[in-house]
Amino acid sequence: MNLAFFGADGKVGRALVPVLERAGHTVRGIEIGEEPDVAGLDATVDFTTPEAAPENTRAALERGVSCVVGTTGWDPQPLDAVAKERGLRLFVAPNFSIGAVLMMRFAQEAAQFFPRAEIVELHNEAKLDAPSGTARMTADLIGGDPAIHSVRLPGLVAHQEVIFGGEGQLLTIRHDTTARESFADGVLLALAKLAELPPGLTTGLDRLL
Ligand code: NAP
Repeated sequence: MNLAFFGADGKVGRALVPVLERAGHTVRGIEIGEEPDVAGLDATVDFTTPEAAPENTRAALERGVSCVVGTTGWDPQPLDAVAKERGLRLFVAPNFSIGAVLMMRFAQEAAQFFPRAEIVELHNEAKLDAPSGTARMTADLIGGDPAIHSVRLPGLVAHQEVIFGGEGQLLTIRHDTTARESFADGVLLALAKLAELPPGLTTGLDRLL
């Protein structure tokens, strides 16, 4: 596919663009302040900031291009109608790592059997939003409004523990992302399935597995 990548020079962008190119996609990076010149492309990918992603996504949809967005900390719901009106797809996932999506699925299953849970999410200090989109999505899936603890330290990439407590027992479900390339499989899957999705907003990699 012919792609534009918003945030190609960011930490995720630098890891993902070479993987997308090796998979056969043509990728043009669009950096901050550059014209979102995307008309005629097959899709855009966005890993930028919560401030930039809504504008980039709206600009791409208004130019007739479907979007895959990994940027967290913003609400894509208002763009559902913009995508639907034009018969375009807007796919947003707070976590493109397949292991993390399985962690959420297993946590949802475990929640049926434990009275209480808390979530600890740990990310690199450069991450702007807290709690993480993945932690909020996990909390929604397991229900009961679990406490979320956010840790921001150098040395971390992206990690999450869901700790379930019951009478005389604990169950911990943990996922560790050790390199940003882990997000590539999910982005490639989203691009491969984009045309099969219904027009409008689809949220979460779980919907594609
Ligand atoms: P980062 O290193 O700060 O990269 C963001 C990049 O976006 C920077 O190169 C930045 O440029 C650029 N940028 C900012 N505004 C822009 C605009 N209007 N148009 C084009 N580019 C723009 O951050 P990151 O670690 O790569 O993470 C990016 C986002 O992805 C964050 O929201 C993070 O939470 C999210 N994320 C999601 C997943 C997932 O699986 N869904 C995984 C990891 C990260 P400057 O440096 O020049 O400002």
